[in-house]
Amino acid sequence: MSDVNVAENLKIVNRNIEEACNRAGRKRSDVTLIAVSKTKPVDLIMKAYNEGVRDFGENKVQELTAKMEEMPKDIRWHMIGHLQRNKVKYIAGRVALIHSVDSYELAEEISKQCVKRDLTQDILVEINIADEESKFGAAYDDAEELVYKIIGLPNISVKGLMCIAPNVDNYEENRKYFKKIIKKVVDINSNTGDNVNHENGFPKEIRESLSNGFLSVLSFGMTNDYIAAVEEGSTMVRVGTGIFGERDYNK
Ligand SMILES: *Cc1c(COP(=O)(O)O)cnc(C)c1O
Repeated sequence: MSDVNVAENLKIVNRNIEEACNRAGRKRSDVTLIAVSKTKPVDLIMKAYNEGVRDFGENKVQELTAKMEEMPKDIRWHMIGHLQRNKVKYIAGRVALIHSVDSYELAEEISKQCVKRDLTQDILVEINIADEESKFGAAYDDAEELVYKIIGLPNISVKGLMCIAPNVDNYEENRKYFKKIIKKVVDINSNTGDNVNHENGFPKEIRESLSNGFLSVLSFGMTNDYIAAVEEGSTMVRVGTGIFGERDYNK
């Protein structure tokens, strides 16, 4: 653990992102690096903070809120793990972004808690992009309808889509999934998807906001595949192991 050189790892990851941006003709500033700090102690995470990182990702509510208390207040916390409805109250309106909204019921609970607090929560809709049984997320074909429904809720703002691609040895294998999620966001934004009945009660202004490029955040790419993710158009890569080293779940 102590032999992990966070500063050096960050340099490598940042250089890889920059080079991928250059190859793809993208601006480095269009990609946010989220340092995934789950299971890692505060003293190690603070090394990334001291290198300038301000976006951190956690996948458990209790761990996230504990670290939030302990660490500097200018950090943008990202909830990236599966979220149970009964835990929503601990984070709603307190985190920068909830990446893992996979049902209307979960969105409703976030909305409800945020109305109470007079806050708005930014969220992403998680898609189970490779239709894996082991993963959470809305079915690909249901994503548009779910987005449209959530937009109708108060105090919750849908910013984009998120996915966790399969764990593969060669990241080239995940490009097809990245292309697929990009296609979905383009479909939703241009309102040309054919999975949604547009007559079905969605207010005109909602449809208009969607056609104006409403969804602008795409969260995909992890240690194994963030280079391909940036080349394909990700705007948020979530890198844990590549920054903080392997996780030990036995402790
Ligand atoms: C753990 C986790 C990551 C980071 O995974 P690494 O392979 O360590 O980079 C990214 N996204 C989610 C949702 C995670 O749970």
